[in-house]
Amino acid sequence: MLTQNLGYPRIGSQRQLKKACERYWAGKITADELNEVARKIKQENWQTQVDAGIDLIPCNDFSFYDQVLDMSLLLGVIPNRYTPVLTEVNTNQEIDLYFAMARGYQKDGLDITAMEMTKWLDTNYHYLVPEFTAKQQFKIFSEKVFGEYDTAKIQLGAKAKPVLLGPVSYLLSGKEKEEGFERIDLIKSLIPVYVEIINRLKQQGATWIQLDEPYLALDLSKKEKEAFEYAYRAIANRVSGVKIIVATYFEGTLDNTQLAVNLPVAALHIDLVRAPEQLEEVLALIPPHLQLSLGVVDGRNVWKNDYERSLELISKAVAKLGTDRVIIAPSCSLLHSPIDLDGETAIDPEIRNWMAFAKQKLNEVADLKRIAEGDKALLAFNKTAKESRRTSNKVHKQDVKDRVAAITEADATRKSTFPLRQQLHRDRFKLPAFPTTTIGSFPQTDDIRQLRAQLKKGELTFEQYEKAIEDATVEVIRWQEEIGIDVLVHGEFERNDMVEYFGEQLDGFLFTANGWVQSYGSRCVKPPVIYGDVSRPKDMTVRWISFAAARTDKLMKGMLTGPVTISQWSFVRDDQPRQVTTDQIALAIRDEVLALEKAGIAIIQIDEAAIREGLPLRKAKHPHYLDRAVRAFRVTASGVEDRTQIHTHMCYSEFNNIIEHIAAMDADVITIETSRSQMELLQAFAHFEYPNEIGPGIYDIHSPRVPTTEEMVTLLVKAAELLPAEHLWVNPDCGLKTRKWPETKAALENMVAAAKEARERISVEGIV
Ligand code: GLN
Ligand code: ZN
Repeated sequence: MLTQNLGYPRIGSQRQLKKACERYWAGKITADELNEVARKIKQENWQTQVDAGIDLIPCNDFSFYDQVLDMSLLLGVIPNRYTPVLTEVNTNQEIDLYFAMARGYQKDGLDITAMEMTKWLDTNYHYLVPEFTAKQQFKIFSEKVFGEYDTAKIQLGAKAKPVLLGPVSYLLSGKEKEEGFERIDLIKSLIPVYVEIINRLKQQGATWIQLDEPYLALDLSKKEKEAFEYAYRAIANRVSGVKIIVATYFEGTLDNTQLAVNLPVAALHIDLVRAPEQLEEVLALIPPHLQLSLGVVDGRNVWKNDYERSLELISKAVAKLGTDRVIIAPSCSLLHSPIDLDGETAIDPEIRNWMAFAKQKLNEVADLKRIAEGDKALLAFNKTAKESRRTSNKVHKQDVKDRVAAITEADATRKSTFPLRQQLHRDRFKLPAFPTTTIGSFPQTDDIRQLRAQLKKGELTFEQYEKAIEDATVEVIRWQEEIGIDVLVHGEFERNDMVEYFGEQLDGFLFTANGWVQSYGSRCVKPPVIYGDVSRPKDMTVRWISFAAARTDKLMKGMLTGPVTISQWSFVRDDQPRQVTTDQIALAIRDEVLALEKAGIAIIQIDEAAIREGLPLRKAKHPHYLDRAVRAFRVTASGVEDRTQIHTHMCYSEFNNIIEHIAAMDADVITIETSRSQMELLQAFAHFEYPNEIGPGIYDIHSPRVPTTEEMVTLLVKAAELLPAEHLWVNPDCGLKTRKWPETKAALENMVAAAKEARERISVEGIV
């Protein structure tokens, strides 16, 4: 029996890569110094895996920015706009071209935009989207994979296994940049280059090569299925003497199982954490030559493996295939989990004993092999941890469980329907047509961030800290009043992050010291860990919202983060379905909503920035997910009186497939991101005849550019053509946290002027 790993985090245990890249970009270190940092990280990672006793160790899983971008460079998929970086400036060539593609290039008289970035399947990792043209040529451009394999070979010998994104998934992860062709049709011209790459690696000495094909576990069209068949047959015909592992993950192969097990390769990897049920069918259909890699250790979460359960799966496979054909592995690349639990000394030892980060997961893979081969002693140890977690009163709060079990449809339904509520709101608030508001945060300047750092270091007392935040809040209230915003916000200066702020105040959450995970490039996030039943020991936001409300005669909006977003941006428990955790959070936030209402806050916004990104990868699972997500939001929002106005906010476009669910949330007002798409995405709302009020963003907050009043009026006119004008609000696309003050002030002044002009130009029914 073999063990393998599919990929290891490359940011470095102390985020060395992030720091080195940022220093290189700032011109503070040379390319050689950057390479030296990379060399050390790789060496350390490989050694960790050798020490853990892993048989097949990935190389080329390292990347300076993104492994999909690495593939584009390897295959010569370099959009024309980057050519000047190679021809016109004297740079370190490949590495600078690479970073130009990742981040754009704005110097030496050039101004070239970066490649588009999007989420890697259902993770929070972002990759750079390959750009294809109709006559796309492929040829080996970058030597990185060959160099990396050579170095790996010295350290790892036969264990070194180069990893590449497979040809079909590479094409599917990209985009057509011209009309008139489908990128999947490029497979014929792409395969010869893969053949060349694989043959070169083989000549260098590689015995195993891993080709990641996550799309093989997704919904595929007939053409895409044929592309898989074609690609792997063509490779098999022209390559021999090297074993190829096709790796699927994040979903089951389901309807593609027949296809997957019959690819002419040496091994198939399946994700048995996300889709344990697929094992049965895979074992039923597997042909006699194929080896099967069992992804039993969760690469997407922070919990200790349940050895008994994994062993059940392994035993099933061994019974059918024998030990020789079974490989034990994490479910996916460990890129998505934090690196090392050992340094997390501040975590309660009882809870820490239930956890495992990347390094610990490698040991689990090795343990499972030993156990499967007969060493049962390891099992007992694991069982003790599992039992402690199953029974701990740090995890289990009966009152929380009872409350979730008792949620009724009535809890998830506002007292009256929207039209009745809307009339109450009109009478109560007397807002003008096109009321203006913002999404919550105002610029988090260095000064504000400094305050929190100083408080942590003890350089500021709590009182001094609070006073400084109060001053910033008062200032932003005065300013909103001055420029004439209708519904004010308090600015969110007291919040570090929209999830962390709540997690820190809720029971059942913990925070790590160094649990960083790469989000994109040098950007890393440190998600909270939800380990137990969630409850709210006391008010979380009432102090700040009330403070702000008391300092103005205008309406002050209360700001909360919604349950789906909090759960989506955390590591959740694996001992209960995510939806149960989300429901627990929903009840906690519901109580906060009620506390705000009781404190006199009349308008409360519940941000659900992450609803769309929680969509399951397989379409068949969408309805169930959406039903539960919508219900969690409704549970949060529906405790209030009719006269209280509930807002929600979502910062993305593309509502087409989910619009009926968005409507089912029944928020009185929804604010969304629309400015960049020129209101295009409002079509979905118009077509559906979205019944409630809506604030389509008219100011693109992702850029420092100040939109003119005229531009914003044009957007409002467009919106009013699509939707009833009396339902429209005027606001930016999202929070202003990342912006600077001067541009924010100028843009919001223009925005208020645009609302005023719209009031003159567009007649609005029912509002005076
Ligand atoms: N209220 C939050 C803010 O303004 C919303 C952020 C978001 O949607 N991502 O910062
Ligand atoms: Zn947003």
